[in-house]
Amino acid sequence: MNQTRPIEIIGGGLAGLSLGLALRRAAVPVTLFEAGGYPRHRVCGEFITGLADATVERLGLGPLLDDALLHHEVAWFFDGRLTRRQRLPSPARALSRHRLDARLAQALVAAGGTLHTHARAERDADTEGIIFASGRRRGSAQWLGLKIHAHRLPLHCDLELHLGAESYIGLTQVEEGRVNISGLFRRRELSAKGPALLLAYLRAANLGSLADRLTGANFDETSLSAVAAVDFDQHVPDTGRLALGDACAMIPPFTGNGMAMAFQSAELALGPLVTYANNAASWRETTTAIQSALQQRFRTRLAAADWLHPFLLQPPRQRWLTRLARARLLPLRPLYSVLH
Ligand SMILES: Cc1cc2nc3c(=O)[nH]c(=O)nc-3n(C[C@H](O)[C@H](O)[C@H](O)COP(=O)(O)OP(=O)(O)OC[C@H]3O[C@@H](n4cnc5c(N)ncnc54)[C@H](O)[C@@H]3O)c2cc1C
Repeated sequence: MNQTRPIEIIGGGLAGLSLGLALRRAAVPVTLFEAGGYPRHRVCGEFITGLADATVERLGLGPLLDDALLHHEVAWFFDGRLTRRQRLPSPARALSRHRLDARLAQALVAAGGTLHTHARAERDADTEGIIFASGRRRGSAQWLGLKIHAHRLPLHCDLELHLGAESYIGLTQVEEGRVNISGLFRRRELSAKGPALLLAYLRAANLGSLADRLTGANFDETSLSAVAAVDFDQHVPDTGRLALGDACAMIPPFTGNGMAMAFQSAELALGPLVTYANNAASWRETTTAIQSALQQRFRTRLAAADWLHPFLLQPPRQRWLTRLARARLLPLRPLYSVLH
């Protein structure tokens, strides 16, 4: 009888870990290489929208997401003023990456996966049985992502989304009374450090009233994270390496859908990879099947997000958006469904 073929995964974020876990549950041998360690804070809004229960179930993530907070409403702020409240068509989950990634890593090991942390791996794109779940590809240096947690910071809504000059920032509650503050900013030469850097970015983006509100907040300085050279791809590549999650395509953060896409890409890859591992398909057939499923699932969503993104970042277009929102002419529900 043929032996089960092993799978190697490069990158232990949500895509890599959830895929590894699901493959182990299907008795496929899995080795995962992660450049960093667990637990650790990451730049992320930690607000998961559009993740269906069926995906959670197929990937066996239920117990790991059990205590995620469920959020129902988003409040949009422009010029420091609350412009529109939006009820989400389905609740979003909120849980810190510090907790979620560490839990997934533990579950992978408990399920018999081999996990190498602090192990950066490089492989040829066309090597059989290799999955690249190594996160975003480096882009131009114009955008910077920043994130920090604060303790017991009162919020106006489940998620506050503040639009500033070439920037936006979200505030949402995660576990243990923590509020995650995470934003995308046009990169500037600012000399501040620690939480003061975030406040300086807010002021530079005309978000002074939010900066005033956060001054003196009880920040967890160990959670401060930054990521430079964030870029967004509108296309799922159809050749070369088999990439999942952000390594495949990165959707702009305002959608709150990048984490769900990481899980969904693992879900789409799972069936073909199990077939491959059981010697019932070649690697070429497997990658072709997965890439075409990824394209079908994400193409429209990525194109719509790419089209909308400038409306969140550029003040003249933000003004249009705000007018439409105030007049209740913004079709939030249809927009939500095309972006998820
Ligand atoms: C500012 C900002 C806010 C965001 N807010 C949200 C939000 O609110 N909701 C949401 O759903 N999404 C959000 N996102 C997007 C979300 O964080 C990503 O889509 C998600 O983390 C993708 O998961 P992933 O597993 O593909 O990649 P990652 O989580 O980035 O994991 C990739 C892993 O690969 C490892 N790695 C890389 N190269 C190698 C190598 N050669 N060898 C070994 N390991 C390697 C890295 O160390 C990393 O751990 C946000 C993004 C930004 C920038």
